[in-house]
Amino acid sequence: MTKEILKDGFNKLNLSYDSIKNEKFEKYKNLLKEWNQKINITAINDDEEIYIKHFLDSVIILDKNMENEKKRIIDIGTGGGFPGVPLKISNSNYEVTLLDSLKKRIDFLSIVIKELDLKDMHLIHGRAEDFGQDKNYREEYDICVSRAVAQLNVLSELCIPFVKVGGYFAAYKSENIAEEINSSKSAIAKLGGKITEVKEIKLPGSDIVRKIVIIEKIKNTDKIYPRKAGKPSKDPLI
Ligand code: SAM
Repeated sequence: MTKEILKDGFNKLNLSYDSIKNEKFEKYKNLLKEWNQKINITAINDDEEIYIKHFLDSVIILDKNMENEKKRIIDIGTGGGFPGVPLKISNSNYEVTLLDSLKKRIDFLSIVIKELDLKDMHLIHGRAEDFGQDKNYREEYDICVSRAVAQLNVLSELCIPFVKVGGYFAAYKSENIAEEINSSKSAIAKLGGKITEVKEIKLPGSDIVRKIVIIEKIKNTDKIYPRKAGKPSKDPLI
């Protein structure tokens, strides 16, 4: 069954699909279901929903041109590995770092990386606010991705500091995003970013419309950002 839903979905997104990807997605789905019984990883537990709402939704930012490129990607608030792990399965050339503040989710992801035999993957257990100020991670990534973590103004302070000038942050958002975008524009500018595109894509196999906000890094982020852990959500930038 994986093969049909994912293969059709990849086709609709104009992305290639093969038996290696299929095997890795299948193993990942089984691990998610197994570990979800022990620790809370995701509210989604049904096979079809995992394929559509986790796997296809994660790869929705990709297009044919991106399939073989080499990029350094960081996924902030990755949870059970979304969108970072499906992006890595889709393009083995990517170097992907997964960051989350919940240790048990990072422990789960270390099992996923081992079982799926994924190379060039890194795990960080900690707060985005702390690692965004660490010179080993700050402005080191071509692409930052994040899904279901915070409102766009808060999320931008967590994510934009990781992106190199010339790279971009892709925020996975839902259909009604206009107001959130408007109230985030000045925060994004303060962080050195600029919204260059809002992609609208229908999630294959569903009626869900996904909006991806692309924020280009146009200048270095001021040293004062991100502020101390907890501050971005308590006192969002305006
Ligand atoms: N991105 C995943 C997805 O779409 O399924 C997980 C979303 S989950 C609702 C939000 C995740 O963000 C949680 O795992 C939480 O621990 C993490 N998180 C929230 N704030 C964070 C922060 N400041 N630094 C690191 N992780 C954070």
